[in-house]
Amino acid sequence: MIGIIGSGIAGLSAALRLRSLGYEVTVFEAHQGPGGKLDEITQDGYCFDLGPSLFTMPQYIDELFELYGEDPRDHFNYIKKETLCNYFWTDGTRFQTPADKQHFITSFSTTFNEDPKKVKQFLEDNEVKYKLTAPLFLQRSLHRIKTYLNWITVKAILKIYRLDLFRPLYATLTSYFNNPKSIQFFSRHATYNGSTPYRTPGIMSLIPHLEMHFGTYYPEGGMRSITESLYQLALRQGIQFRFDEKVTRIDLHKGKAVGLTTVKGSYPFDVVVSNMDVVPTYRKLLKGFKAPEKILSQERSSSALIFYWGIKKSFQDLDLHNIFFSDKYEEEFKCIFEKKTLSEDPTVYVNISSKHTPTDAPEGGENWFVMINAPGNYGQNWEELIELSRERILNKLSTLLGKNIKELVETEFVWDPRGIEAKTNSFLGALYGAASNDRMAAFLRHPNKAPQISNLYFCGGSVHPGGGIPLCVQSGKIVSELINEDFPK
Ligand SMILES: Cc1cc2nc3c(=O)[nH]c(=O)nc-3n(C[C@H](O)[C@H](O)[C@H](O)COP(=O)(O)OP(=O)(O)OC[C@H]3O[C@@H](n4cnc5c(N)ncnc54)[C@H](O)[C@@H]3O)c2cc1C
Repeated sequence: MIGIIGSGIAGLSAALRLRSLGYEVTVFEAHQGPGGKLDEITQDGYCFDLGPSLFTMPQYIDELFELYGEDPRDHFNYIKKETLCNYFWTDGTRFQTPADKQHFITSFSTTFNEDPKKVKQFLEDNEVKYKLTAPLFLQRSLHRIKTYLNWITVKAILKIYRLDLFRPLYATLTSYFNNPKSIQFFSRHATYNGSTPYRTPGIMSLIPHLEMHFGTYYPEGGMRSITESLYQLALRQGIQFRFDEKVTRIDLHKGKAVGLTTVKGSYPFDVVVSNMDVVPTYRKLLKGFKAPEKILSQERSSSALIFYWGIKKSFQDLDLHNIFFSDKYEEEFKCIFEKKTLSEDPTVYVNISSKHTPTDAPEGGENWFVMINAPGNYGQNWEELIELSRERILNKLSTLLGKNIKELVETEFVWDPRGIEAKTNSFLGALYGAASNDRMAAFLRHPNKAPQISNLYFCGGSVHPGGGIPLCVQSGKIVSELINEDFPK
């Protein structure tokens, strides 16, 4: 019997994997429904995806249906995006990113006056980084000796010089590109794991490879349909869910987890999996236990400030994903990671799911998810920062779109780092657990198994391999394989 704490995407993935191996699984969730950050909100006729909006590597979700011999297309569908994202700069430059690689190379080099051969070379080098690391990093625990005893790992180690671990992403980009806008364009991918391009290592340029090679997708019915379809699959397979039942303690006996205590009672388990952020798991559920302080003290990833705006107009210039770049990009990251405040000129991301799901907004309107990257919750005066940011964002979008946006907002909901921390128990409101701002940080996250408790495992954005939907889904797979090795069915 396995008890899982949390029904985020990683908890759902772990539950489904473990159930397919024959284990009895019960998932405890503090909230009324599943999904964690992958949830939705509705307000005044508008429906918004609460957290993630960019969907990549859909095959990882499909695999979960295939485990049970089900055709994913009977339950979960998505379309491939032909345009990855629309970019806007304050000097009037605009760039619509084509998904097709050849088209991208031509269009990018023309718009930004770059050498197409260098653009091609950059994309090819990113592919090498991905191919060398993905089989090792995305699919295995880094804390099992057998991970290192195979040819794939040896190959990655022999070619470590090609991984670009020894300089920041920003420096990598300046070695390929001349135009500051090209560099800014590819720097943004550091934010996909909540890091700064000025410190995260050059290996992170493999992130654009995920978008440009594997594509980006939109799930029919919005991001929330990922949660809903997996939850329905879990119910069909007999996984038990106990909602509104916050876990308050992991019960230990002689160095082993023997069960879970919740706000409603105590339950014995043979194995426990925590999908809760690793820091509060130790601090709140394992009080008195000696935590791995060095790992827990790793710098956290960025958080976010999001305005969910119901807009009573539709904009032809905008697509599903839109970025309005800052003129002071380096300063923006200094604000987030050093000054722990919000930039005066933030990069603004606008996601509009009603472009694909028209019922997400009343007729003629659009549901805008307007996000800026933010520092974690260190007790800042958030009310003041939110007021200031709202005005700055409204001014920026109004100027770049040539419309008074303030007049068009007919409903608003705000989610800030305090709310993210409170709703999902993510330490400091970090979106992706630990940041990858150091050379080896991505490889030194908390392992998927507790070092000192033989039957306690971890999945989710705060542990290996990292945050974001694809990596969280993979963490569920890694955990299920570890449990199956340690406690075979
Ligand atoms: C605003 C925002 C934008 C993002 N954008 C993207 C994106 O575009 N693409 C992408 O791939 N990723 C994105 N992410 C990151 C992505 O959402 C996360 O990495 C991922 O959803 C984390 O999943 P998880 O399973 O680790 O944890 P969570 O989703 O945090 O789930 C943890 C669950 O555990 C529950 N829980 C916690 N403590 C307890 C307890 N004591 N007892 C019982 N239950 C408990 C919580 O209620 C929650 O349901 C974004 C995140 C946010 C917040």
